[in-house]
Amino acid sequence: MKIGFIGLGNMGAPMARNLIAAGHDVAGFDTASMPDGIPLASTATDASLDADVVITMLPNGEILRAVAAQIHPHMKSGSVHLDCSTVDVESARTVAQDAEKAGIIAVDAPVSGGIGGATNGTLTFMAGGSDAGFATVAPLFDVMGQKAVHCGPAGNGQAAKICNNMILGVTMIATCEAFVLADKLGLDRQAMFDVVSTSSGYSWSMNAYCPAPGIGPQSPSDNDYQPGFAAALMLKDLNLAQMAARAADADTPMGQAARDLYAQFVEDEGQGEMDFSAMLPRFANRGRD
Ligand code: NAD
Repeated sequence: MKIGFIGLGNMGAPMARNLIAAGHDVAGFDTASMPDGIPLASTATDASLDADVVITMLPNGEILRAVAAQIHPHMKSGSVHLDCSTVDVESARTVAQDAEKAGIIAVDAPVSGGIGGATNGTLTFMAGGSDAGFATVAPLFDVMGQKAVHCGPAGNGQAAKICNNMILGVTMIATCEAFVLADKLGLDRQAMFDVVSTSSGYSWSMNAYCPAPGIGPQSPSDNDYQPGFAAALMLKDLNLAQMAARAADADTPMGQAARDLYAQFVEDEGQGEMDFSAMLPRFANRGRD
C-alpha cells in the first residue's frame, strides 16, 4: 500500500519502519523528528497525496484535529485516515465526521504495548470505525501488531483504550498500597505475591508487572523503575478518562482518585519520567498523613 505516516516520534518511527520492512511504500512527515530509514515528505499534505492510508501518531487531540483539517481535503477519495494516537473520544469522533464530509474513511486505533511493542511489531490495536475502514487497515495491524479488536463505530477505539487504562491505573495503585500495608504488617513481599497472584486480588499489575523489585516476572521495578510506561503517560490517559466521564455523566470515583494521585506524583513531585509502578516506593516512604 502507499502509506503516509505523520508523527515519527518514539512510537511512530518504529511503526513506520515495520511497514517499510513489510514492503509498503511509506512517506513520513514530522515537524521535529527526522528518524533514519524512513523516506520523508516535506509537508504533511505531501505525505498524504495519493496515499491509500494515512497514519497519524501524534501527541494529543488538538494536534490531531489540526493535522486532519490540513490533510483531509488532499487525500484521495475512499482512502483511510488511521489515527493511532491516544486522544480524547470527542476529537476522534470530530475527525471521523470531518473525514466523512471529505469523502474519506476515518479509523481511530490507539495502541497498547509501548515502544517495545512498536519496535517488535507486537502492539494491540483497539479500533473504532466502519467495517470497510477496519477491513482496509487490518493488514497493516497485522504488520505493526499482534492483535486488533474492532470495538464499534468511530471513537470506540479511544473509549476502549481509556477504560482499559483507567482499570490499569486503579489496580496499580491498589497493588502498590497493598504491598505497603503488607510491609507494615510484617508480611513478606514474596509471600504476599504468592498468595495474591493466585487469589482473588490478582491482576495484570500484580501478576505481569509486579511493582515490587525482585518479585514476579521481570518488570520496570527491577530496573530502578525506569519506564516501561511512564507515570506522565498514565496521567495523560487518566485525564482523558475523566474528560470522557464528565462528558458522558459517568460516575467514576476510583478513576478520579487515581487521576488525582498520579497528578500529585507527576506534577507536584516531579516523578513523571518514572515508571507508573513507582507508586510503590512513593507510598512506602510515607505515612498515613
Ligand atoms: P512522541 O512525542 O515521541 O511523538 C510524537 C511526534 O509527533 C513527535 O515526533 C512530534 O514532533 C510529532 N508532531 C507533533 N506535532 C506534529 C505535527 N503538527 N505534524 C507532524 N508531526 C508532529 O510521542 P510517542 O511516545 O510517539 O506517542 C505518540 C502517541 O502514542 C501519543 O498519543 C501517546 O499517548 C501514544 N502512546 C504512546 C505510548 C508510549 O509508550 N510512548 C504507548 C501507547 C500510546
